[in-house]
Amino acid sequence: GSGQQRCATFTYKTGMDEAHQRELAIIQGLAPGLERGELSLVYQPKMALADANVHQVEALARWLHPELGPIAPDEFIQLAERSGQIRLVTEWVVGQITRDLAQWREEGLDLGVAINLSADEIAQTALEQTLAPLFQAVGEAESITLEVTESALLREPENALQNLRALQARGARISVDDFGTGYSSLAQLKQLAPDELKIDKAFICDLADTPADQFIVDLIIDLGHKLGLEVVAEGIENASAWRYLSRKGVDLMQGYFLARPMPAGDVADWFADHQA
Ligand code: C2E
Ligand code: CA
Ligand code: CA
Ligand code: CA
Repeated sequence: GSGQQRCATFTYKTGMDEAHQRELAIIQGLAPGLERGELSLVYQPKMALADANVHQVEALARWLHPELGPIAPDEFIQLAERSGQIRLVTEWVVGQITRDLAQWREEGLDLGVAINLSADEIAQTALEQTLAPLFQAVGEAESITLEVTESALLREPENALQNLRALQARGARISVDDFGTGYSSLAQLKQLAPDELKIDKAFICDLADTPADQFIVDLIIDLGHKLGLEVVAEGIENASAWRYLSRKGVDLMQGYFLARPMPAGDVADWFADHQA
């Protein structure tokens, strides 16, 4: 019972440093936290430059831990991967999105939803099964985008490619997240055959004042478009970056300048306010 758990916690506290202790609390708290409803999803809109009626959002996980407070996904997703629990997280994400899609549809909104997949799970055979409820839930006018990082391909490229092809065949769009920061080659990009490149926010945040970033961003937009892909910019924080990217013809825009990630209940209102 709970007495035993307190003893175990006490042992960890005396034997390990604080960082390790925090990691353990996160790893051990994840499954019960999911169970207790401590995790939630927020959604960040993406706007299409050419068509204000394109409605897309990216789902981002949040965890409000009763003792540790808010835990950033950069921290707990990585620990979930390391402890073999990432599938549990993705299953929960899929379930939550499925419910939110139904809610939005009731509010008259057909949304494209992007979800983040971690490098570990791209090559796993269970992936298609994990995502199946999402494919069942998504309607004609809606779409699924799977955001994957370049590094996802480097581990088990054959399994990863096979998985991604199967998911594309089911109608999912594949987006290469954090593009420009990984180590993949152009040959690998060609092999991956994604539908979208998402320029990493590191190149976007100081775009207007940084010629090197402009040069890189120009190249990525050109590369993406020449390969017939959509190009997305994330991390747009100011009007000058927005103007620069508009001028360069980026297809989709995302960042605090447009909208911060928001709860599912605010999404329909946001799109109503930002209609053409
Ligand atoms: P990401 O997929 O690259 O997501 C973009 C991150 O940038 C998000 O942080 C988002 O809130 C933040 N962001 C958005 N606009 C701006 C902006 O204008 N400026 C700045 N500085 N930041 C902006 P967040 O929500 O903390 O997520 C961090 C990372 O955690 C994500 O990076 C993604 O890799 C991962 N993640 C989040 N949710 C999930 C999930 O459900 N599953 C998996 N596997 N990974 C997730
Ligand atoms: Ca992402
Ligand atoms: Ca990103
Ligand atoms: Ca990232």
